Amino acid sequence: MNAPDERVDVLVAGSGGGIAGAYTAAREGLSVTLVEATDQFGGTFAYSGGGGMWFPCNPVLVRAGVDDTIEEALRYYRSVVGDRTPAELQETYVRGGAALIEYLECDEHFGFKILPWPDYYSCAVGARNDGMRHIVSKAVPDNRLGRFQGLVRGPLDHERLGTPRPDLLTGGRAVIGRFLWAMTENPSVAAHLNTSLVELIVDDGRVAGAVVETDGARRAIRTRRGVLLAAGGFEQNDAMRAEFGVPGAALDTMGSPGNVGLAHRAAIAVGASTDLMDQAWWSPGLVHPDGRAAFALCFTGGIFVDRAGRRFVNESAAYDRAGREIIGAMREGRVGPRYWMVYDSRGGEQPPVMAPNVSFSPTAEYVSAGLWREADSLAELAHQIDVPPGNLVNTVRRFNEMAGRDDDEDFGRGRESFDRAFTGGASPLVPIDTPPYRAAAFGISDLGTKGGLRTDVHARVLDGDDRPVPGLYAAGNTMAAVSGTTYPGGGNPIGASLLFSHRAAMHMAVDG
Ligand SMILES: Cc1cc2nc3c(=O)[nH]c(=O)nc-3n(C[C@H](O)[C@H](O)[C@H](O)COP(=O)(O)OP(=O)(O)OC[C@H]3O[C@@H](n4cnc5c(N)ncnc54)[C@H](O)[C@@H]3O)c2cc1C
Repeated sequence: MNAPDERVDVLVAGSGGGIAGAYTAAREGLSVTLVEATDQFGGTFAYSGGGGMWFPCNPVLVRAGVDDTIEEALRYYRSVVGDRTPAELQETYVRGGAALIEYLECDEHFGFKILPWPDYYSCAVGARNDGMRHIVSKAVPDNRLGRFQGLVRGPLDHERLGTPRPDLLTGGRAVIGRFLWAMTENPSVAAHLNTSLVELIVDDGRVAGAVVETDGARRAIRTRRGVLLAAGGFEQNDAMRAEFGVPGAALDTMGSPGNVGLAHRAAIAVGASTDLMDQAWWSPGLVHPDGRAAFALCFTGGIFVDRAGRRFVNESAAYDRAGREIIGAMREGRVGPRYWMVYDSRGGEQPPVMAPNVSFSPTAEYVSAGLWREADSLAELAHQIDVPPGNLVNTVRRFNEMAGRDDDEDFGRGRESFDRAFTGGASPLVPIDTPPYRAAAFGISDLGTKGGLRTDVHARVLDGDDRPVPGLYAAGNTMAAVSGTTYPGGGNPIGASLLFSHRAAMHMAVDG
């Protein structure tokens, strides 16, 4: 380390939800250095086509006359998450989103709108099935971003399929873009790409900065107030996945490439305690010609079958709930790392997936990779996907009977309002009776791991005795998720990552 030490008030590692920490610290008058391990800002956050935020009773919803209450939202959140995470952390999240939006709306760089998105446990007490707890950012042109123009990660189709990058930032890219836009003119923010936090510096029991690495060269950045670790999960690191027992593989994660767990490691080395380390935000994943299973949702038909050719899950359940069932079946050996969606030709060749997140490639590519199969009869299809023909025929017969009654006695598909949210209220039980019959390969995908550093309500990292590690904060997927082993609603990961990053910065500004 030859360069002289840089000195700042706040160091933020990671530019997904961490961007809210950098912005807040700067707005509160602190000097900030933001380091981002990759060559783009935005992390997994920027991959989100919606960039939804679950912030009940926020000003955007209140202005629209939504009749929700924080107490009702809290009842819902508690009933879903249970006591797996501290009650005060849950309450901080549920109450805090509204105040954050109020804070951001005072700055003309931000603008939000409602995107109705139903809660994921429709039958839980306090659930909001009209989707009125969920907002997104208004779009923003990339050319507003000044020195940050062209530097927002994504979209997924650009990175995985090579499609051109749109000039208009939408969804998660719009949120990241608006934070960067707000920081363009602020000289107290330094932002470094291709720079990873690799180690924390501790002076007299206090985290007083970090060692960062750019192109193999290391230097120290010393902090007066604190270090915020908002470096995502460790989903891209197969060795860490194996060490902590996270099902699935880096190949099939949607997490951005820099999320390899360096910040987790650095914090553990200075005494941080962890929780939920085997957890991720799960989903069924449609396998694409590149061999990767990608987060897919909003199924308008089709059934998943196990090795025995039988259904094993409510296919229309919210993706994390379905993902957890799929993992359970994998653990029991009923389902392999790749399994099949069986459907028919009523909608053409593509499987009935409304939101694949990574756009479909040409059909021929799936067919030549053996990922999509087709046959004139179900028995023949069964041979092609290596399941017992009699079972598959019986499974589809039973499913079609239940579809006729609109009642899935086996897995309850369609009983919760979420199951019908993407079919305009129509039954998601669509008979499979129009040959040729088809099968598409699926796997288990994730949106990132969610186990990490235990924190208090100010996002201060806690040690094994529940004492804050002075000067150290964590948010987003680097923090042990407030939602525990559940995914209560769309907008929870992004909502919590923004909120706890913001709270960390406010704490550093006021008490740091
Ligand atoms: C297709 C898709 C759609 C989604 N839609 C939604 C949605 O609508 N609403 C929602 O709530 N959630 C959504 N999610 C999930 C959500 O995007 C993530 O859970 C969330 O962005 C995680 O935020 P984060 O800040 O923890 O991590 P990230 O956004 O991944 O950011 C972490 C950043 O830290 C960087 N980094 C890692 N290590 C270091 C280091 N040592 N030093 C410096 N930098 C480092 C990484 O390169 C990365 O840029 C979606 C995910 C996907 C894939």
